Parts: sequence; structure tokens; C-alpha cells
Amino acid sequence: MKFEVTRNPSPLSDFDREAAISDPTFGSHFTDHQVVVVWEAGIGWHSAQVIPYGPILMDPSSAVLHYGQEVFEGIKAYRHEDGSIWTFRPEMNAARIQRSAKRMALPELPADVFIDSLHQLIAVDGDWVPKPEGEKTLYFRPFEIAAENFLGVRAAKRVEYRVIASPVGPYFVGGVKPISIWIALDSSRAGKHGTGEAKTGGNYAASLLAQQEGYDQGCSQVVFLDAETSTHVEELGGMNLFFIYKDGSVVTPGLDGTILRGITRDSLITLIRDRGIKITERKVTLDEVREGAKSGEIAEVLACGTAAVITPVGIFKSRDEEIVIGDNQPGELTVSLREELTGIQYGIVADRHNWMHKLAD
Ligand SMILES: *Cc1c(COP(=O)(O)O)cnc(C)c1O
Repeated sequence: MKFEVTRNPSPLSDFDREAAISDPTFGSHFTDHQVVVVWEAGIGWHSAQVIPYGPILMDPSSAVLHYGQEVFEGIKAYRHEDGSIWTFRPEMNAARIQRSAKRMALPELPADVFIDSLHQLIAVDGDWVPKPEGEKTLYFRPFEIAAENFLGVRAAKRVEYRVIASPVGPYFVGGVKPISIWIALDSSRAGKHGTGEAKTGGNYAASLLAQQEGYDQGCSQVVFLDAETSTHVEELGGMNLFFIYKDGSVVTPGLDGTILRGITRDSLITLIRDRGIKITERKVTLDEVREGAKSGEIAEVLACGTAAVITPVGIFKSRDEEIVIGDNQPGELTVSLREELTGIQYGIVADRHNWMHKLAD
């Protein structure tokens, strides 16, 4: 598929762009261009374009506004010391947006078009990828929306895939400090055969009430328990969890259809195995977390995702209790895995698994 490129006639000046990327707050500035590819029933994907960044002219009856038929991705571009621009395992994001789309009755974008769309945006907006100091990156937000003007309830016959990009700094301001996590006791994120495995806006919408409650209690994230029994710890609103035991072994909740298949999660499992550490995917109950924290059996907990990479978890909190992990300090393995993964991403640690994909010289 060939992309038609229409340059932004008034891109941000070098001065304003440098200002925007020097101290970016997460997801508040956007580059000069966006990608659009259209899909129509009976025709398929067509009209691949790079166009100036700007509002979407949308009919108020557009299906996505009413029934939330949409999916998205999050993936970053990293600038290496020699100036080249790279991304991390894009074929995984390409496969995941297809799986998410399938669950939400949206068409599957070919993987090569997904990867090409990142190249296309970097070709025109490469200057927006910050220098690596201070863990800065350009965050891509690819997404697919039902863009048919129709209020009937069925899968849309017109869909748009778009990519926008935003220069970002560290997700959590204040550096690598343990975060406090609010335990959602009154809301579930994903049920059996639900949409938990799809990266779709509705899952996020469903998490916001508990997130708000968490903020009010001094927590920056929320952990959701399994919908069926409310006893297993599943994942955060947008990050997967790992538990590190005193004996050195690691446990992460298994993928049973209600947990998002994090690419950072998958990469960490590999890096942990590479070190010869035992890693198990299994259910982890809140009781086990409580008792393990108290006895010291659980030494570290980390949360991971593309946006925040790896973040130590210091405290789990609910209206009933406060569970402190270790001494509420970043754990040794957590910090070391974080250095290794970001080192691979920024090109300063050997990329043993060929995870890095070059976007520009
Ligand atoms: C995106 C996301 C993650 C993290 O996935 P990565 O591929 O590592 O960025 C974890 N949980 C949820 C619910 C997510 O939406």
C-alpha cells in the first residue's frame, strides 16, 4: 500500500518544536502530521495518507461516539546516540491491534501497513524524536475507529486507522520511585469472555472511576481483581504486574483472557529467563500478596508497560488495609531489569533478541 504525503504547510518552528520536546508532559503535544488509512466494507483498506495534524471532521452520528467501537496501541520511537531512530518489537503491536480489532468487530490492518505507518510518520516528523537524555521518546498512538455515520447497532462499514505521535518524558514525574496502587474493590476491569484482552477505550473508561478514587487516596494507579471471585490480582488499568520472591523466583499473572498481553510483560519474561531466574505464570491471590509482603516472602513488585517501562510498586492500598512491599524502596531486580530494558531500547545494551527495528538513519 502506497502512502500519499501532504506536507503540513505551517509546521511548528524549530524553536517551538524544541521547546515542546525539551520538557514534555505525557501526551500533551503532538507532531505536525498524522497517518490516515480508510477501510470500507466490500473495498478493504485504501487511501493511505500522511496529512497535517489537525481535528477530525466528524458527523455527530459517527458510530465510535456512541458505541465505543475502537482499539488502540502505544509504541515508542527511541533516538540512539548516533542520531538514528528505532522502535521496539513493532510486529508485536501490529499483531495485537489485529487481535484487538477482531474482538471489537473491526477490520484487521495488515501488519506491514501498521509498521509502514510508523516509518511514514517518522519520515516527515523525525525531528520530533527527542534526544535520549532524561528518558525521552516519541510516543506513537495508532488507533482504529468506527467512522460510519449510523446509529444502528452493528459493526461499522467504514473505519479509519490513524496514527498520531507525541513527544514524552517519563510517565511518572519524580523519577523511578515506588508507586502506590489503589485496590479496586467495587469495580472490575474484565470478565470472562469480555474485552480484557483487547486494547480498547472502553476498558479504560471502565477503570476511571476507581482511578479517581485512587488519586483521592494518594495512589497513582489502580489494580483490578478478577471479576469472578475478586480474589486474584490481575493487572493495573494500563500495566502488567510482576512479583519477585525472596528466593529470587518471579511470578506474573497468567494470560487467561482477562489480562492485556503486554509487550513489556513478554519482553521481561524473556529477560528474566535469560538470567536463569525461574519465572512462573500463574494466579496470584490478594491474600498471597498480603501475607507475602508481611512475611517478607515477596521482596519486590513491579508494574510494566510501554508508557512507564518498569515502575516499582511500594504500596497496595484499599479502604480496608495498606500492604507495604519490602521497605517501599525500588527493589534490586526491578532496577536492574529496568536498566537492561531501557538500555536495549536506547541502543546501549546488546539487543540479543533482535527486538529493535530501525525507523530512520
Ligand atoms: C497497554 C496495556 C498494558 C501494557 O502493554 P505494553 O505492550 O507493555 O505497553 C498493560 N495493561 C493494559 C490494560 C494495557 O492497556
